Amino acid sequence: MTETNPVRPVPVDRISAWDFEADVVIAGYGIAGVCAAVGAADAGADVLVLERTGGWGGAAALAGGFVYLGGGTAVQKACGFEDSVDDMRAFLTAALGPGVDEEKIAAYCAGSVAHFDWLVGCGVPFKHEFWGEPGWEPPTDAGLQYTGGENSAPYATVARPAPRGHVPQMSDKRTGEQGGGYMLVKPLAEKAAALGVRAEYDVRVQTLVTDASGRVVGVLAKRYGTDLAIRARRGVVLATGSFAYNDDMVRAYAPHLVGRPAASIEEHDGRAIRMAQALGADLAHMDATEVAFFCDPQLIARGILVNGRGQRYVPEDTYPGRIGQLTLLKNDNEAFLVIDEESYEAGVAAPTSSPQLRHQPKWVCETVAELEAEMGLPERALQTTVEVYNLHAERGADPLLGKKREWVKPIGSPVAAIDLRGMTGGFTLGGLRTSLHAEVLHVDGAPIPGLYAAGRAAAGLSAWGYCSGVSLGDGSFFGRRAGIAAAGG
Ligand SMILES: Cc1cc2nc3c(=O)[nH]c(=O)nc-3n(C[C@H](O)[C@H](O)[C@H](O)COP(=O)(O)OP(=O)(O)OC[C@H]3O[C@@H](n4cnc5c(N)ncnc54)[C@H](O)[C@@H]3O)c2cc1C
Repeated sequence: MTETNPVRPVPVDRISAWDFEADVVIAGYGIAGVCAAVGAADAGADVLVLERTGGWGGAAALAGGFVYLGGGTAVQKACGFEDSVDDMRAFLTAALGPGVDEEKIAAYCAGSVAHFDWLVGCGVPFKHEFWGEPGWEPPTDAGLQYTGGENSAPYATVARPAPRGHVPQMSDKRTGEQGGGYMLVKPLAEKAAALGVRAEYDVRVQTLVTDASGRVVGVLAKRYGTDLAIRARRGVVLATGSFAYNDDMVRAYAPHLVGRPAASIEEHDGRAIRMAQALGADLAHMDATEVAFFCDPQLIARGILVNGRGQRYVPEDTYPGRIGQLTLLKNDNEAFLVIDEESYEAGVAAPTSSPQLRHQPKWVCETVAELEAEMGLPERALQTTVEVYNLHAERGADPLLGKKREWVKPIGSPVAAIDLRGMTGGFTLGGLRTSLHAEVLHVDGAPIPGLYAAGRAAAGLSAWGYCSGVSLGDGSFFGRRAGIAAAGG
C-alpha cells in the first residue's frame, strides 16, 4: 500500500481537487454494481460507476446466471409449479443456515416476484421452460431448475418444494466461459447506459474519503498509476465482489478455501471490505462459502458417494453444492463415487452442461470386496455400506439418507470407484454487515453515513449453506436497494 492509497479513510480537507463528481459513486460494475446503477439512476441520481477492469461484467458475466427467485414468478407458473413466499422463506432459512439473517431472508422472499418482474422489465430474458435432470446448469436455454436441493432430503419435507433457479436465456452456453450470466448483466448495463449512467474503466477504488462528521463523501482510486479523487455528493456503493482472492483474508476467515478459489475472479481481493472496516464497519458470516464439487451430477445421482471411511454421507441426488460443502467441510475433502458399469454408462449418455466433469473410474472390479481392497479401505467398510444400501434399494428406498426413489438402484457388477478426493473449490459469501437498505453498519449497529454495499462485498443471505442463484439473487436485489438508498442521500 502506498502513501497515496491508504486503506484508512482520508479526510476531505486533504483533497485539493476532484477528478470526477456524481451524486452516487459505485465501485465495481458486476451484478451488484449494475443494479445499484439502474436503481440510483431510476431514482433520479446522477451516477458514476468506477470499474477496475476494462468493461462491465465482473464474475457475474462469466456466471451460469442462476438468480434464485420464487414465490410464484411467471416462469414458475408457466412451468406448472406452485410456490409461496412462506415456502421460499422456510426453505432458505433451513438451507442457507444455520444463523441466517431472518429479516433479510424475509424481505428477499417477499420482494422476489417483484424483483423478477423488474429484471424482465430491464430486458433480462427468461425462457418459460423447466430443466429437471441432475446438473449444475441446464445444457439448453431452459429458464428454471432446482438449484438448492429443494426436492431432496432433508429439505423436501421442510417446505413444499419448488424450483427457484432462474437462468437467463442464452444459446451456445459453455459452463464457466460463456454462461447465462452474460445475458443477465448485458441488458442491465444497457439499461444503465440508457438512463445516463457514466462509467470509468481501469479505475481501481482504494480509499474512502470522509468529512468531519464521519460521512463518506468520496473515494480515491488509481488508474494506470495516476491517483484520482472522486466526489460522491449523496453516497458511495461498494460492489467490488468477494475476498476469495485475498489469501490473507481467506486464511483468516475461511481457511478451508485456501488454495481453492473457484467461480470467482482475481479482482475479488477484499479491498473494499478492508476500506470499510477501517471506518469501523462490522462484518458478518465471514466463514460462509460456496463450495463446488467437480463431478457431473448425472454420474453422482446414479452411484453412492462415500467418504474416506467408505461411508455414505449425503443423498447423491441433492444440489451438488451441498455435496461440495459436506465433502470439504465435514468429510475431510475426501469422496469416492461407487458406481456399477450399467449406471456409469447411463450417466455418461445423459445430457449435461458439464461433460468435462465426467471422470473415468480409478478402480474397476468384479466385486465390492475386491474394490474395497484395491481402494485400501478397511475390510468390510465399503462392503457393509453397499450391503445396507442394496438391502433397501431392492425395494426402491433409501431410509438412511433419503435419496429419491427414482435414483435408488442396487449396485451391481462390475463395480467401479471414481476418485473425487480434493475435487472442491469455491468463493466466499461473507462481508460487510448491511441493513435491509444496504447501508453499511458500524460495529455499534448504526449505519455509516454515505456508505452502502451489496453483492459479495457484503454479507448476503447465506450464513453457511448455499443454493445456486443466491449470489446473483441477493447481489441484484440488495444492489438495486443500495442504489435507491444512496440516491436518497
Ligand atoms: C463460472 C461462474 C459461475 C457462477 N455461477 C453463478 C450462478 O449461476 N448463480 C449465482 O448466484 N452466482 C454464480 N456465480 C457467482 C457470482 O457470479 C458472483 O458471486 C457475483 O457475480 C458476485 O457479485 P458482485 O457484484 O459482488 O461481484 P462481480 O459481479 O464480480 O462484480 C464486481 C466488480 O467489481 C470490480 N472491482 C473489484 N475491485 C474493484 C475496485 N477496487 N475498484 C473498482 N472495481 C473493482 C470487479 O472487476 C468486478 O467487475 C458464478 C461465478 C462464476 C465465475
